[in-house]
Amino acid sequence: MVNTHIGGLEFFIKEYGHLLNPEAIIKEDILRQGIFFEPLKDVKNFSSKSYFIFSFNIDNDNDIITNKYPEEIALQNGIYNLKRTIISVRINKSSPYRVKFDAAANKYVLFLDDNFIGDVIFSPEKSYMLQKTPSGKSVRDIAPTIEWGYLIYLAVFRMCQYFENKSECAFCDMNSNYVNQKKTNKSYSAVKSIDDIIDALGIIDSSEDSESKAYTLTGGSIIDEFKFNGDTEIDFYVRFLEAIEDKYKGKWISKIVVQAHDAKNLKRLKDAGAYIYHTNFEVWDKELFDNICPGKSKFIGRDEWIKRIVDAVSIFGEYRVIPNFVAGVELSEPYGFKSIDDAINSTGEGLEFFMSNNVIPRYTTWCPEKTSKLGRLGNSSAPLEYYVKLLLKWHELHYKYNLPVPEGYGEAGPGRAEFSVSAFMDAFKMADTA
Ligand code: SF4
Repeated sequence: MVNTHIGGLEFFIKEYGHLLNPEAIIKEDILRQGIFFEPLKDVKNFSSKSYFIFSFNIDNDNDIITNKYPEEIALQNGIYNLKRTIISVRINKSSPYRVKFDAAANKYVLFLDDNFIGDVIFSPEKSYMLQKTPSGKSVRDIAPTIEWGYLIYLAVFRMCQYFENKSECAFCDMNSNYVNQKKTNKSYSAVKSIDDIIDALGIIDSSEDSESKAYTLTGGSIIDEFKFNGDTEIDFYVRFLEAIEDKYKGKWISKIVVQAHDAKNLKRLKDAGAYIYHTNFEVWDKELFDNICPGKSKFIGRDEWIKRIVDAVSIFGEYRVIPNFVAGVELSEPYGFKSIDDAINSTGEGLEFFMSNNVIPRYTTWCPEKTSKLGRLGNSSAPLEYYVKLLLKWHELHYKYNLPVPEGYGEAGPGRAEFSVSAFMDAFKMADTA
């Protein structure tokens, strides 16, 4: 791991502070390195990690998965006078970022080594999280909210069939996350029921403290229809979409994350009520795509995946096709680029290709979980310099193609952004978002 210490952080803030806000730079550094929590005091009423799809932890030892940590933190004030910055929590026992309890001030604080960075608030527990569906399932398990309550995350199939084919994406720990969660939570199921989803959404909808504005419907890839009673991936997810949209049409922005499908199947998703289509591309370079995403490469192919993304614009509309990149895997061993600039040039080419076709690609900051293939190969995170350059590149291209702030991602700008797994929404200038 290329750890950043205070000198490194200050360098990037000084060097790029006029182009990027400090909130975005610090957020990327915390996401890439994770956080270590000193033992939590008697703190109640925070929303704990729900392990909704991946572990999003660098370390996943038994003591970590049995302990309770916040899903997200908000970092504010401190030496850079930070505006509230919402950051997904990724546990890393050896991170230089440490959350401690300051007994004198009666608050949690974040340190980078011995340097105080800012005050910490844990993601608030919403009343609906503690409730149960009529079948006895907890709402936190069936329909957790993330992004400070903005997004309801409906991972309805928490395994991916690419693993059975030994062709899973090399950065993904979905199936080991399922196995780990099953050890501590007997009711953590691989496939959720439509009734549970509808009931959990009803509980959220009627809760006074709900601030949810969107939901994501997703899960692992389905390639073996036999195991799904003959259902294709589209049959499976369309049934959930139809049930949700029949009951709650217009309540939330609907987003669907599935493989890249042909126009006929995309039309089925659209007709069932999907508003935004995410079909994640992960990494642009051809060789890296084939090596890091062997399932996507084998079952659909890179060129076809790209074609389907572009074709989807005519079905979902301009700017409503939003493929994700896992930013940083371009620098992983053994396949990755050896230089940061080569990685940025390659990913920049992909971002520009999509943006010039009215697609808005976004990215999540790679969390090198030790339970993923890349993690088992000893990989650690990409350097902060890469993330700073990527923020600049993404915003340069977004501005060049005069694109809107993507829908379904909440507020943009420092102190306002809710998207918690990369800083691309924090890095908008306030004037861009007015
Ligand atoms: S498609 Fe890739 S990233 Fe998505 S769940 Fe399957 S293995 Fe993981």
